[in-house]
Amino acid sequence: FENVSKVFRTEKGKNQLSALKNINLTIKDHEVFGVIGQSGAGKSTLLRMINQLETPDEGRVLVDGVDVCQIKKSKLRFYRKNIGMIFQQFNLLSNLTVAENIMLPLTLHPYEDYLELDEVLRFVGLEDKRDSYPAQLSGGQKQRVGIARALIIKPKILLCDEPTSALDEFTTGEIVDVLRRINEKYQITTVIVTHELSVVKALCQRVAIMEEGQVVDLLDITPNTSKV
Ligand code: ADP
Ligand code: ADP
Repeated sequence: FENVSKVFRTEKGKNQLSALKNINLTIKDHEVFGVIGQSGAGKSTLLRMINQLETPDEGRVLVDGVDVCQIKKSKLRFYRKNIGMIFQQFNLLSNLTVAENIMLPLTLHPYEDYLELDEVLRFVGLEDKRDSYPAQLSGGQKQRVGIARALIIKPKILLCDEPTSALDEFTTGEIVDVLRRINEKYQITTVIVTHELSVVKALCQRVAIMEEGQVVDLLDITPNTSKV
């Protein structure tokens, strides 16, 4: 991120809200990078700029040296094939089975390189749930489906937006464990937005602390590999 700013205009331009103020930040290859801060701090907006779900008003977002803000709309879906995303509310399709949800990206776009369904099911521990529907799953199981759907496309980058915020403490520990294993086995650069310090401590190598649209601190931390 180079001098990235974003203003949201609400109520027909009357009110302006500076969601991001001159952000400068470098996320390294293969690291697990945390972004922590209170609700409204700008974390999600920052994360969503990486896959261009948001565009900056000023500054540049460079991924592997390419200014992703300059990618044409028609080319964005090719760029996004390198990026997996998981969400607080899982975003599963309720009328599809676990297997169908996980394979959804592959049915929407052709991918040259991807993982086998069996491998990702095994990796997230849901072999016995492949034909279940989301309504039949616990929150933690739903998130593991969301993770498997992101993982199957072998992304270079995994974006996690409050991945454990809808889950209890025990289930949070399980999801943190899956995310850590993904980083270790597949070396995917992982960016995780959260308001939970325990998640950052258990998972991240570095963390940016955000307040009111600014990165107010950047810390190196040694992940505490004990359970959350
Ligand atoms: P966080 O993820 O830290 O909770 P967000 O990035 O979601 O913060 O939001 C930062 C600020 O920008 C908040 O005040 C939020 O209300 C505002 N915001 C986010 N998205 C929009 C939008 N599409 N339109 C207007 N305001 C927005
Ligand atoms: P929500 O706020 O409902 O959790 P978002 O607003 O964060 O969802 O996501 C916006 C839309 O972008 C969603 O419909 C989501 O499915 C889609 N999306 C998810 N992952 C990606 C991706 N890697 N690239 C582009 N769009 C994505």
